[in-house]
Amino acid sequence: MASAAPAVDEEAPASPPPSDLGKGVENLVIIGSGPAGYTAAIYAARANLKPVVFEGYQVGGVPGGQLMTTTEVENFPGFPDGVTGPDLMDKMRKQAERWGAELHQEDVEFVNVKSRPFVIRSSDREVKCHSVIIATGAAAKRLRLPREDEFWSRGISACAICDGASPLFKGQVLAVVGGGDTATEEAIYLTKYARHVHLLVRKDQLRASKAMQDRVLSNPNITVHFNTEAVDVVSNPKGQMSGIQLKRTDTGEESVLEVKGLFYGIGHTPNSQLLQGQIDLDDAGYILVEEGTAKTSVDGVFAAGDVQDHEWRQAVTAAGSGCVAALSVERYLVANDLLVEFHQPVREEKEKEITDRDVEMGFDISHTKHRGQYALRKVYHESPRLVCVLYTSPTCGPCRTLKPILSKVIDEYHEHVHFVEIDIEEDPEIAEAAGIMGTPCVQFFKNKEMLSWL
Ligand code: NDP
Repeated sequence: MASAAPAVDEEAPASPPPSDLGKGVENLVIIGSGPAGYTAAIYAARANLKPVVFEGYQVGGVPGGQLMTTTEVENFPGFPDGVTGPDLMDKMRKQAERWGAELHQEDVEFVNVKSRPFVIRSSDREVKCHSVIIATGAAAKRLRLPREDEFWSRGISACAICDGASPLFKGQVLAVVGGGDTATEEAIYLTKYARHVHLLVRKDQLRASKAMQDRVLSNPNITVHFNTEAVDVVSNPKGQMSGIQLKRTDTGEESVLEVKGLFYGIGHTPNSQLLQGQIDLDDAGYILVEEGTAKTSVDGVFAAGDVQDHEWRQAVTAAGSGCVAALSVERYLVANDLLVEFHQPVREEKEKEITDRDVEMGFDISHTKHRGQYALRKVYHESPRLVCVLYTSPTCGPCRTLKPILSKVIDEYHEHVHFVEIDIEEDPEIAEAAGIMGTPCVQFFKNKEMLSWL
């Protein structure tokens, strides 16, 4: 990964020229859409900065970041009964949107923070801006086994939560590599589907939190192999994965463990490639920030979340750093006389009756995107718009790929369409009534009639 790179271009002016004001230069661009990016967007939007947010599309995983591939989040304050990662991200996204953040589900392909105004280019647009918050997160690491590419998605996966329930792994003996919270969480999750799970730990101890260690070590369906590393994948005569070649790190002894699947939980690499050579990074590629702040080595460029944090990496710390970054941007723009405030137009009250039940269920028919059977029933019966229903399930990998694509199409038609996501595990009755046999499944309705089924 990147080594420490010299950051500041000598030619870049110390402070930006005020002449850019009102000339199509945005106050702030936020790159990234995990808890750090959305929190920064909420704070910046509430401060009337009208931030432009590039949520990403494919690079660095799905919009919403790593929490989109997590099941229950039990330690995010405010959710005493837990919340799923995707739900938490949906809520943060809506909150940012409500306050006027401009969200684009596009990958950023080019960044120039060496001259001012800064330039951010995605697949669809180029934006000039006075400040940037980098909140691009981190991506799961790979082991780079000799036959890894051959068996990728055919036995090897970096996400037990996404792929664990697939028929390939159900009822099989599986292995997870790693000794941290990710690996232990994955091993426990896989016991829901697998016959047995082996956890391969290269050291003589686990790095995971005490609670996770206790859960793994006391689980009869998990065998922990200390001082053990995976060397390669072994296949049967049909070319299917049949095991892993192991090596003891203490004795050098080699053996074969028969498993049908191998899951990686060995940490992450920060997504800082776009900034390489432009701002200071550490040896592992994490963005260096001034201690206790979000300031990077370039004035006006701030970093938040996992891309600058190799130590804590929690949703709540990422959110906290997103807040710090947004408040820092506001100070920076004011100090440099660059701030252009955008006030949201006061929304005209739509003529509609909101029932107590709507309020209780968090339903507002004027919104385009909804979730759950209550919303589906309401828009199906009451809305003149086209209704697009996406049926998903928590462990369906293709659903996670399809959702951002569909969401992008919905954004284009915005007020002419309603989009409702139905999680078939949360709302089994409505999925059954609709005759859903598998996910993802998309149905279109208008005036209570089904138009198509995909
Ligand atoms: P960590 O960096 O904490 O752990 C990575 C693990 O993988 C370590 O045990 C490491 O071994 C091992 N490893 C790394 N490279 C290799 C390799 N090449 N071969 C074999 N093993 C390897 O990453 P995590 O993703 O587990 O956690 C990151 C952060 O996210 C942590 O702060 C964690 O607490 C947090 N987290 C919290 C969760 C929650 O609260 N629910 C869930 C998941 C993560 P070694 O120990 O030898 O270095």
